[in-house]
Amino acid sequence: MINYKGKVAARRLYEEFGLSSSHDFEVEDLVHARDIIYEEKALPHSDGRIVFGKSKAMISINSEIQYAGRKRFTIAHELGHYEMHRGSKLPEDTPLTLDYFKHGSQEYEANEFATELLMPEHEFRSFVQDRAFSPELLREIAAYFNTSITSSAFRYLQIGPHPLFLFYSRNRNLVYWKNSPNYYLTVKDIIRLPVPDDSVAMEFYDHQTIYSQEESAQEIVKSTWFETRGYDDNAPFYEYAIVTKNYNTVLSVVWED
Ligand SMILES: [Zn+2]
Repeated sequence: MINYKGKVAARRLYEEFGLSSSHDFEVEDLVHARDIIYEEKALPHSDGRIVFGKSKAMISINSEIQYAGRKRFTIAHELGHYEMHRGSKLPEDTPLTLDYFKHGSQEYEANEFATELLMPEHEFRSFVQDRAFSPELLREIAAYFNTSITSSAFRYLQIGPHPLFLFYSRNRNLVYWKNSPNYYLTVKDIIRLPVPDDSVAMEFYDHQTIYSQEESAQEIVKSTWFETRGYDDNAPFYEYAIVTKNYNTVLSVVWED
């Protein structure tokens, strides 16, 4: 069963404040409207967190976050916890909880909330409609919606028209993967094992290679990430490695033309 709680809570905010587009507000304004104490400070091991006090809540965001889009997504995620999980004791949010991979329903709900708040479904669909998929498109989405490339990639995987796979690895090992709905290929059985030797992700782990924007779509073959049947070993695929150097993680976006 799909959990729509995050999406519903985000739509409720749009209605409550009479908003019609993601460009109608700053996330900070919504935080202030809820009378939440907001601070930015150095948080050594996390991007953000929310603490519920007796009468007020406080959101802390890591002042070292480099990208405005990532910061905005983190604030929206914490606001989602406020809207849905008031009173709970929540863990600090690291890039891993913010990157959508399996973590229990509260993290999933907060990410879904942030996603719908910042990239509403109807607005997103009309933005990507009739545009070919490419790394450049993900950068355009992130710029238009003022969010991170990572969250743009996850949003695209959910509701974009071109089918994708996402592979998330940390310290060389594959943590998790996800595919677009109705797009099935058999992924190699390498969860918790090193990413494939011929993947773009491994080029980063082995040689710290990060491709320039123009070269971010690297050609690979189907057999890099997927089980094949001999005849389709060399079918052309593409991989775009979204690297977070500080945390030694790679989100690999993989697609066929
Ligand atoms: Zn969280």
